[in-house]
Amino acid sequence: MGSWEGCLFAHRDDVEQTCGGTLLAMNARGWRTGILDLTRGESGTRGTAADRECEANDAARILKVAHREALDLPDGNVQNTYENRLKIAGVLRRLRPRVVILPYWQGRHPDHYTSATLGYEACFVSGLAKVETPGEGHPPHRPFKIFYASLYADVRPTFVVDITPYVEERLRALLAYRSQYASQVEGGKLFVPEEEIRERTLAEARHYGLLAGVRYGEPFVQKEVGLVEDLMVVPVQSI
Ligand SMILES: [Zn+2]
Repeated sequence: MGSWEGCLFAHRDDVEQTCGGTLLAMNARGWRTGILDLTRGESGTRGTAADRECEANDAARILKVAHREALDLPDGNVQNTYENRLKIAGVLRRLRPRVVILPYWQGRHPDHYTSATLGYEACFVSGLAKVETPGEGHPPHRPFKIFYASLYADVRPTFVVDITPYVEERLRALLAYRSQYASQVEGGKLFVPEEEIRERTLAEARHYGLLAGVRYGEPFVQKEVGLVEDLMVVPVQSI
């Protein structure tokens, strides 16, 4: 069971905002992908938690994820508590992902940066044999690798995933959150119409693609160093 790649983010649509193309790229390579949303979106300015669940399920279908679920942490008040770590660890033990993607640990929204530390510490506690987690008592499991999706952080990525073939599907998954993104008269500064979402999404993906010498990309940070066996096949041209 080492074939899962899991995403753990604060809000429904965070994955679609930052690493949806990567999930599609992983799916195309035959890996199973899953999303754990920590909150249900009950504090959103627009739409109800039920609306957002429908939208999240639509987006999950577009991203071809095999599993998506949401915990019940309070939207707008995600806290790194032991209880919350155990809740997440229970899901990690049940699904047993090899790779986990978390939001980058700095950002504007407290739920985002808190989820980075909370997610990391949940991955740690999930591997402790003597710790009991809620649920059916699955054996301990610690993911092998943790990556941080850094799209909304002003930080130089460690690497970029080429999402060129998936950029339109990635955009479609984001626009599935109609209550948040569809063109609306009452607009307001927080919500931008569909055309602007499209332009911004493609511009960001193009920016990170250019850094890596491909058309469209999504950025990630890893805390560990990289390991190389053969210098002759390392991608991204230097000069
Ligand atoms: Zn968010």
